[in-house]
Amino acid sequence: MRGSLSWLVADAAWSPGAVGPAPSERCGSATRWTACARAAVSLPLREAGPAPRSVQRLSRPGDTGRSLPLVAARRIALGPSAASPLFQCYQPVVRLDSIAGNWQRLDGGAMFGNCPRTLWARWCAPDAENRIRLACRGLLVREDSGRTVLLETGVGSFFEPKLRARYGVEPGHHVLLTSLQALGVAPERVDVIVLSHLHFDHAGGLLTAWQDGEAPRLAFENANYVVSEAAYQRALAPHPRDRASFIAELPALLEQTGRLELTRGPRSQTLGDRYRLTYSDGHTPGMLLTTVDADEGPITFMADLVPGVPWAHVPITMGYDRFPERLIEEKAAVLAEIHRAGGRLFFTHDPEVAVGRLSLDDRGRYLVTDAQPELRA
Ligand SMILES: [Zn+2]
Repeated sequence: MRGSLSWLVADAAWSPGAVGPAPSERCGSATRWTACARAAVSLPLREAGPAPRSVQRLSRPGDTGRSLPLVAARRIALGPSAASPLFQCYQPVVRLDSIAGNWQRLDGGAMFGNCPRTLWARWCAPDAENRIRLACRGLLVREDSGRTVLLETGVGSFFEPKLRARYGVEPGHHVLLTSLQALGVAPERVDVIVLSHLHFDHAGGLLTAWQDGEAPRLAFENANYVVSEAAYQRALAPHPRDRASFIAELPALLEQTGRLELTRGPRSQTLGDRYRLTYSDGHTPGMLLTTVDADEGPITFMADLVPGVPWAHVPITMGYDRFPERLIEEKAAVLAEIHRAGGRLFFTHDPEVAVGRLSLDDRGRYLVTDAQPELRA
């Protein structure tokens, strides 16, 4: 039995218009939820183990120059007596794990748009070729129903050696698959894969590792795939400016499965009501931001809207963004909503931070707090 105090606090603060679902959506009825909450609060609490320690923050936008070790809030779990029928709604609805994928190195200037090198080099140290090291991590959701959902697959290892070297993809094997295996998840057991967009560093991990003379094929034999319709159309007909970011064979491979859902609205038929979809066009048309309602509140896969901690500073964009001013407006709106709801951000590209929360400094700029190098919840 697991639960968390922060879960209770977050849900107690739920109000109409909040990002998260109404308590009634979690527990079947608002009345039932109220009863559950009362029962939960009266039960004994016990410590869940040592508090996870966050990583040391580097100097990032909005920092005052101090580098503070942030300690995450202590996790409190409900005691064993929580097995009452009333308590059913405190069963963990999902288990969340960050999944390490292959690393890549991209040009630091391209990753920071019009931000001067003197600034971004403080946040991400460039190598001799001016490239910065970027993670490509996915988010694994294991539902209480037994269903397994993977948010993104990273760059994978589909590149032939020359392109692998150009983009600094390392190591050579398909890291995402070994990371899943370490958690006991075989590729054929992944039921749904959600792709924010089809740029190679988000979708390349769908493919098996490169082998000379072999055509690319999907590594996940039984998965259903969720992509926004606009992102899929963009992959079918890229603009000359971003054609190199797509894998030409991928749309046909996805369509041939017969298990591809193209989304437009805030919900996906495949995913169901626990997942909420938001769209952003500033980076690439139809980029999907998926929010999962989990025990400890909503967590949003930020994709390339906020690829890592430095980009949480609203004016910072990437040279890869198609419409930077639009992206800034979209980012401001999404971050304001996450901050208001007390949600978490999941970063796919940050080399050190997988997940964090938001706070505002005295000048109204967002800071990423409670930063964690990996997610195990
Ligand atoms: Zn992208």
